[in-house]
Amino acid sequence: MERKIWKRSLSSFSGFPCPRCRKSNLSMVAKDFIRVVPKYMAQGIEQGLEGEWEQGRFSGFLKCNATFCGELVVVAGDYWEREFHQYDETTQEDVAFTDRTYSPQIMHPPPPIINIPRKLRAEAVKQIKLSFGLLWSDPGACANRLRIVVELLLDQLGIEREGEKGRRKNARLDLFDRIEILGKSKPGHEKALNALRYVGNVGSQGSGRRRRSGLLRVVRGYLAS
Ligand SMILES: [Zn+2]
Repeated sequence: MERKIWKRSLSSFSGFPCPRCRKSNLSMVAKDFIRVVPKYMAQGIEQGLEGEWEQGRFSGFLKCNATFCGELVVVAGDYWEREFHQYDETTQEDVAFTDRTYSPQIMHPPPPIINIPRKLRAEAVKQIKLSFGLLWSDPGACANRLRIVVELLLDQLGIEREGEKGRRKNARLDLFDRIEILGKSKPGHEKALNALRYVGNVGSQGSGRRRRSGLLRVVRGYLAS
């Protein structure tokens, strides 16, 4: 799956996979994109900032390219825009360029970040689907969903939630204990195990942006395989 589209800031929305048919990509419906500048932001521009900057909120639709599908995804969030002027010697005219950046906070229904493994049980599938939407609004909550997915995956692989730990025989095993047990029972999957450990860590560490890029690495590196 295309990596560069899963970013916090986007210049366009083309290339996201369709959440319905999953076979085709979504395209921006340009006429349905609305950009509005709140009054207080517009005042700020007039009072202080030089140049032609604009900042505001946007909403719009992405449509599935497959005619048999036609799914619509609503997107919304913040945007920034800057206008550049360049003198064209040939036409002897001033040409304007607009550099626009979108920061989506909502995508509904959310495009799937990965192809969900067919063998994954229903509850884990449900949690993965919830994580798709949270990626945009709350990467920390997305991380927590993925931790749940990892716990469920370990259940599915037959790794117990209770076992021997130190002096105790039936202690509650945390995610890391369970991953260690998996490592011993199924050797040779160090890369995958490290990815799982990373999910265990990511809920409590890192900035939002770093957390999101780390999450995506894990989701693609392991859960997609
Ligand atoms: Zn579709």
